[in-house]
Amino acid sequence: MSGGMRGAGVWRREAPVERVAVAMERWTPPAGRGGPFEIEVRTGKPLDVLAFKGTDLGEVRDYAAFLKRSAQALYGEEAELETLASCPACDAAQPVLEEAFRVFGVAYHQCPACGHGFVGRRPSAAAFARHFAASDDHAAIYTDSEAAERRIARIVAPKLDWVLDLFRRHLGRAPATALDIGAGGGHFVAAARRAGIGCDGFELAEGSRRFARETFGIALDNADFRAAPAQPVDLVTFWGLLEYIPAPRQFLRAARARLQPGRGMLVVEVPRLEAAGTLAQIAHPEGVARHMDPSSHINCFSDSGLFSALVDTGFRPVAAWYFGMDAYELLVQCALVAGEDALVARLAHAIPLLQAGFDHGRLCDDIIVAAVPVE
Ligand SMILES: [Zn+2]
Repeated sequence: MSGGMRGAGVWRREAPVERVAVAMERWTPPAGRGGPFEIEVRTGKPLDVLAFKGTDLGEVRDYAAFLKRSAQALYGEEAELETLASCPACDAAQPVLEEAFRVFGVAYHQCPACGHGFVGRRPSAAAFARHFAASDDHAAIYTDSEAAERRIARIVAPKLDWVLDLFRRHLGRAPATALDIGAGGGHFVAAARRAGIGCDGFELAEGSRRFARETFGIALDNADFRAAPAQPVDLVTFWGLLEYIPAPRQFLRAARARLQPGRGMLVVEVPRLEAAGTLAQIAHPEGVARHMDPSSHINCFSDSGLFSALVDTGFRPVAAWYFGMDAYELLVQCALVAGEDALVARLAHAIPLLQAGFDHGRLCDDIIVAAVPVE
């Protein structure tokens, strides 16, 4: 990371000094973006990460090697890469791309205004779309049918509960309809339907759509969400979507077009750049097997960049939830570098304690933001 001072695009916040599980905070955007906004901030989320990831680093090594080959194939033709002229998050002009670090030889850049991280020289959107449509391997780690119900119970259900509680308190009722964009294997769509919500999903990867069909009996739409007919819905969700998207503001505008002020809510989950788990990957790029993979994750967000993107596209942020898998990631990268795979199991007991510290200190690699549309 360059460590340079961030400037004109940085938000400010008034927040409790000490650890508080849920707090109302006042967030003030950079000049010209209205506000301040009252944000309900929650930190920390218990998760038995090893129940999902295990302690075997063989899979991590194999997946990192696969991602490296994918990146080399995608970025191999230098002449076919496009250069970004503006920040994908805050839209500030980028007359000179500021290189922050490299993963698998691919440069990530950082916006001098808001701190958003992005791959500034990248394949065309069409090349990415082809890559994803065929990416059964990418989908594979999310589509183990034996783990589907466990994934819903432990990962999806707590997030759905958080969303339904916020929706009820801000809009006075439960959402009747929802759309999940980048629905993966359909886990959220399935959970939402079980909760009585008329929920549909969009997903481009054929392998994921097949999984949703076979596991949940759910038909996901493979159309471009931006171009599909914009019927209004109560709730739109982007779970781990915008980091893959060349132009995330377009997706936020498309979500805004489907939501009505006083009736709708948008929920966005993205990986965070200023996070222990992200920095652990950057410090050992050969071991990247999570969200710092340039063959898929071309964005890694600053909070300022994400919040500015929401405000610019017609939303008022109302809540944020900070949590992550940083302690696990840090252990994994240490074990890979040391060649001591047993480290992960030996230090597993420390993961919840360390993670709570990263979450409350906002050095965690995940954030979910809820926002409502404004006139
Ligand atoms: Zn920016």
